[in-house]
Amino acid sequence: MKLKYITSMSALKLIRKLAGFKGITITAFAFGSNVLHLKIKPHKCGCQCPHCGRRGTIVQSSTHKSRRWEDLRLGAWALHLHYQPREICCPTHGRSQEVIHWANPNAQVTFRHEYQMLRLSQQMTQKQVAELLDVPVSTLSGRLHRAIERYRQGHEICDLHYVGIDEVSYCKGHKYLTVVYDLERSVVVWIGTGKGRKTIDEFFNEVLSENQRNEVVGACCDMSETYIGAIEDHCPQAVLVLDRFHIMKSLNEAVDEVRKEQWRDAGTEERKVLKGLRWLLFKHGSNRSKRDTRLLNEIQRSNRRIYRAWVLKDEFNQFWEYTYEKCAETFLKSWTRTALLSRLEPIRKFVETLRRNQQGAVPLSKSHLVL
Ligand SMILES: [Zn+2]
Repeated sequence: MKLKYITSMSALKLIRKLAGFKGITITAFAFGSNVLHLKIKPHKCGCQCPHCGRRGTIVQSSTHKSRRWEDLRLGAWALHLHYQPREICCPTHGRSQEVIHWANPNAQVTFRHEYQMLRLSQQMTQKQVAELLDVPVSTLSGRLHRAIERYRQGHEICDLHYVGIDEVSYCKGHKYLTVVYDLERSVVVWIGTGKGRKTIDEFFNEVLSENQRNEVVGACCDMSETYIGAIEDHCPQAVLVLDRFHIMKSLNEAVDEVRKEQWRDAGTEERKVLKGLRWLLFKHGSNRSKRDTRLLNEIQRSNRRIYRAWVLKDEFNQFWEYTYEKCAETFLKSWTRTALLSRLEPIRKFVETLRRNQQGAVPLSKSHLVL
């Protein structure tokens, strides 16, 4: 790499480069004890209204005091930013303090300092973070609480129309959490321990009021009976959506179950052929290499059951290409018929779940959609 050496640069420009400021201009600096004080001002985007973002006129008689923000450390130096926010007058919203682009309105630290603090707090104890950032533990604790409180405000349940329910595992898949999303706002609105019916019932019964439950228009979840049952019981008016990811995941699991069965019954010689097959079976047709095709041809000759399961999975991908409801319906009917004839138990179970959730054999009925 060729380095371009700089021979002249003013001190202010140098500090700006080192600190990595964007949208901020440094007007003066001073050294304190282990602290580098920087007087700053917004670069080009000052005097904006906090409500509409439009530029307002500066109110000259402003009484706003100069404020100080703690920023990321610069080597051995702590960085303190100083600025006197201006009072502005917006034609629509009247008088208010201009937007501060580097920090939250009432925070004493900059956004990037806050981000670092939150990231570190995920990994270590508050005492260790306080030591690293060189602040008292009580100060850090207060800042953390305020930051978390602020971020939580955006996750309150209001106008919940489209719900997404999913489970996440932790402790290497031994424990589960149920996560409920507001799909319109893309935020998590609730988290409960466990993945059973009791957990999800707790959300619908204790967190949502009857009115809120009636306002739910659509709900999306995986193919587990627990979540589907809970949605049908608590929000019968909601359109249930089974998404592509969860349907394909379920089908892949069924194919893998067939593979496992065959592996258990196979002798030493047969196992040689079946080795390393797991990920190949999951692969989408468009990512298949020549080697993969050769392996699949081998499987076709040596293990008909695995091959049949894989062909069914591969054919099912066609379902997502349809744009007309009727065509998709015809395809699904013919596919399920073939799948049931295959006499593969895990695939049959998948088909049954799919059918049950389609209210009989109607794949795209009004109340149940497959996306
Ligand atoms: Zn405004």
